[in-house]
Amino acid sequence: MSGFSLKKAGGFLFDLDGVLYVGDRAVPGAVEAINFVRSKGIPCRFTTNTTTRSLESLHRKVTAFGLPVEKKEIFSATTAAAMYLRHKGSPACFFMLTEDPLKDFAEFPTSETKPQYVVIGDVGKRWDYDLINKVFNMMVDGAELIALHKGRYWQVEEGLRVDIGAFVAGLEFTTGKTATVIGKPSAAFFMYALEDMGLPAGKVVMVGDDINNDIGGAQKAGMKAILVKTGKYREELVAQSDIKPNLIIESIADLPGLI
Ligand SMILES: [Mg+2]
Repeated sequence: MSGFSLKKAGGFLFDLDGVLYVGDRAVPGAVEAINFVRSKGIPCRFTTNTTTRSLESLHRKVTAFGLPVEKKEIFSATTAAAMYLRHKGSPACFFMLTEDPLKDFAEFPTSETKPQYVVIGDVGKRWDYDLINKVFNMMVDGAELIALHKGRYWQVEEGLRVDIGAFVAGLEFTTGKTATVIGKPSAAFFMYALEDMGLPAGKVVMVGDDINNDIGGAQKAGMKAILVKTGKYREELVAQSDIKPNLIIESIADLPGLI
């Protein structure tokens, strides 16, 4: 960890869930930490891989926790995917998304028959044979696959649930094509977040609770990364991992003391 000083940080990328809030409340010290970063004039973005909410509803959720976050500072997998599609010239798409996150893609033309891109997010129980077969045929007809992330499973109250990675991997296997994965830890996600901030990777520090998605992804993109011991942090997982955070802190509350 020698040689790493936050005094030189020109921007911060914060993960939201597990860093700034856990469950239904803000992490103690999170509000103060954000305000401190702002008082130094350091720009920040607030990142998430969630594909179930639009930026508007994410913003409503985090401000309800009292977090001083602006909507334009939230950088989600949908933000990155929209940037990617704009770079591709706003092609016709087929979106596998629920109504709310679909709002973030309102500017793009859609096609039910011959899209250039199929964008896959979480649609819960809507997946069935007919739907996966429809997407398969679109891909055979030339459509490229964009996965908002490639998560394997996630935890809900009743237990573990299959995530969209299973369908993405299935479609890759069936078509022989490789999906472009947009969410963390993909390089695209961090590249577009940096583009949105107008800063080079060497100037920006990621703060996250996920050793792979946040720390590994950011470091691969050329950024320094701080792991917090809140949210999904587990000491054993970090000890087993080849990924070494540049710094580990107890929680976001420790950040102002380091800047
Ligand atoms: Mg997190």
